[in-house]
Amino acid sequence: MSTSPSTPEIQLLCDLIRRPSITPDDAGCQQILVDRLTAVGFQCESLQFGDVTNLWARRGSESPLLCFAGHTDVVPPGDLSGWDSDPFEPVFKDGMLYGRGSADMKAGLASMVVAIEQFLADNNDHKGSLALLITSDEEGRARDGTLKVIEALSNRGESIDWCVIGEPSSENKLGDLVRVGRRGSLSGMLTVKGIQGHVAYPNLADNPIRRFAPVLAELHQIEWDQGNEYFPPTSFQVVDIRSGVGAPNVTPAELSARFNFRYSTEWNDESLKKRVHEVFDAHEIDYDLKWHLSGEPFLTQPGPLIDAVVSSVSEYAGRAPELSTGGGTSDGRFISPAGADVVELGPVSASIHKINEHVKVADVIQLTSMYRRIIELLL
Ligand SMILES: [Zn+2]
Repeated sequence: MSTSPSTPEIQLLCDLIRRPSITPDDAGCQQILVDRLTAVGFQCESLQFGDVTNLWARRGSESPLLCFAGHTDVVPPGDLSGWDSDPFEPVFKDGMLYGRGSADMKAGLASMVVAIEQFLADNNDHKGSLALLITSDEEGRARDGTLKVIEALSNRGESIDWCVIGEPSSENKLGDLVRVGRRGSLSGMLTVKGIQGHVAYPNLADNPIRRFAPVLAELHQIEWDQGNEYFPPTSFQVVDIRSGVGAPNVTPAELSARFNFRYSTEWNDESLKKRVHEVFDAHEIDYDLKWHLSGEPFLTQPGPLIDAVVSSVSEYAGRAPELSTGGGTSDGRFISPAGADVVELGPVSASIHKINEHVKVADVIQLTSMYRRIIELLL
């Protein structure tokens, strides 16, 4: 174990890790940010929805508005015996900082705040406005977090022009990859109905497993699309199938299944649902299908934000980032539809949600420089 590097972003990151902010509990993290931001002229508003604490902090009233976004909540540590150290006590080892949330995404938060402080020290009269949108409900249901804050902002005519999300976007080295969009996520919850019966008398029963099998095969055979310039091909995955009454001589009355599409901009949720129903309706099958849309796909087109991010990363990482739309969903799905350009730039994601989550100390310091440069280029 080595002593802690005493840069402001590393100190701030340690303060945040010490607060066990497991979703949706913010555990006082946002108050730390409020204290720092108020001191440099931000108006801070705490927006409470249900058990979720959100923060909207803004400096300036003019446009354009550059917003940094992120979350203070973390996933649970899991089995504590698997951790080499207390997940909520920052520990330095071999140039790494260990702790739950270190990479996802308290490093991003610490770098944003310090980048803003550094920028304001030299540019007190910047043009436009700076803001932070922070939630404590990104890792959970995400119902009372960023989505609700964006609604509240829209209702009073406040809109974000550019948004940088500090999620861990990098793959192997800081800045090797930034996200400029995300695939859509659409889930189906299926029930197939049949008639329960004796396995020896199939003519007197209607086996829902038999009914569903050819539909499932067909759904797997469809090439949904080949992706496009920005998106990988749409993927269909079944995550759960259950049926059966637990006896070897009874065929069941019902089958339930859950599946998910991660889809490109070649589809929207309506066109995708329609196509799935066509497949079902072409078979003789009595079914009920409920849908849940987690987010439509979004894509940020080339423009000032992407230019600023690419040139900042190139300057400090010595290489241009890959512009990607892979990975899971993020709160970008709520920010982008309101008309903002959204880019995600943050530390290496390799250890997120795992035991012994960690972040490279040097990366956190370099990330601050990248964020500061992005602000300088845009405001
Ligand atoms: Zn995250």
